[in-house]
Amino acid sequence: MEHPENSSEYAGLVVNNGVEQPSNINPYLKRKRFARRQLTANDYVEGILKGDTSILGQAVTLVESTHPAHQQVAQEVIERCLPHSGNSVRIGISGVPGAGKSTSIDEFGLHVLKEYGGKLAVLAIDPSSERTKGSILGDKTRMEKLSVHPDSFIRPSPSAGSLGGVARKTRETIILCEAAGYDKIFVETVGVGQSETACHSMVDFFLLIQLAGTGDELQGIKRGIMEMADGIVINKCDGNNVDKCQLAATQFRNALHLFPMPESGWTPQVLTYSGFYGYGIKEVWDMIFQYIDFVKASGYFEHRRNEQSKYWMYESINEQLRNSFFQNPTISDMLLAEEKSVLDGQKTSFVAAKQLLDAYFALLH
Ligand code: GDP
Repeated sequence: MEHPENSSEYAGLVVNNGVEQPSNINPYLKRKRFARRQLTANDYVEGILKGDTSILGQAVTLVESTHPAHQQVAQEVIERCLPHSGNSVRIGISGVPGAGKSTSIDEFGLHVLKEYGGKLAVLAIDPSSERTKGSILGDKTRMEKLSVHPDSFIRPSPSAGSLGGVARKTRETIILCEAAGYDKIFVETVGVGQSETACHSMVDFFLLIQLAGTGDELQGIKRGIMEMADGIVINKCDGNNVDKCQLAATQFRNALHLFPMPESGWTPQVLTYSGFYGYGIKEVWDMIFQYIDFVKASGYFEHRRNEQSKYWMYESINEQLRNSFFQNPTISDMLLAEEKSVLDGQKTSFVAAKQLLDAYFALLH
């Protein structure tokens, strides 16, 4: 069949006795008929379950949209994909900018696909993308080899909303990717604070990438972040950096000894590697899959996923309550005045908060 765009009718010309004459139909009206059809929830679900990456990409865009109509379709798609999700290993990968996350993920991804097969989705949580309008983790070309691999799907961080909102969208995207047959999920995050907690709450293994520095590597690393790690890896263990990396690894091992045994029963390991030269990559992944086998056998794998589902239920309630409060027009009118009276010392913070909440609850009746 002739492609519509090649047909003379499409171009606004009607062929009459071999002579082209201008059509009396506005060609733009014709053009509209060929515009991309709006997909229904059914189309999205069918496409995702078939592993169609173009539809998966569009579904993720829908999940990320703040438009209420898009959200409604997105929620239906997620719900219908849910029974087909869960069959994956989810790995969180964190490290400060410059730690070598993109270089490493490129190598990690290729290694995992080569050694274990299957399909890999790389997602991100980058709260800075909202503040700065430029995502640190947003550029697909950061992973040059993986981005052209047929079995990988790379998606930058959603950028709209609070950290909670960004993280929720990443979690929902995990569900869609798993339903599309991605059985390995990497969730990348910048190692600078709360985004780690969000990432930790949606992965089975949390890997912290560190660099060897001046000898006091433990300085500046929040205890909480170290406590979350199931494995710590020191990158750039190459050239004349090898001794420093090994020293750093010893320091991390010693520090980890002081922490209580994690609930998983697994002692976090510390390894050195080089993402750039590919040294030690196999050992890192042997360690990660040893952990997965260990927690699957002990039942902790299931337990952690259940705890995460519970956590996200409460997170979702918190987020929706917060939005309902702050987006209420009456409340937002009152907020500035109440804030001013607190700053002027006319009211305490608690009284102002109570009055605002009372006003909000009264509006609900
Ligand atoms: P990200 O900001 O954490 O994603 O870090 P990048 O992957 O962009 O790496 C930051 C810089 O460190 C780049 O210049 C990389 O070439 C370099 N780099 C990454 N991994 C290694 C490594 O294993 N060895 C060395 N020597 N340099 C590396």
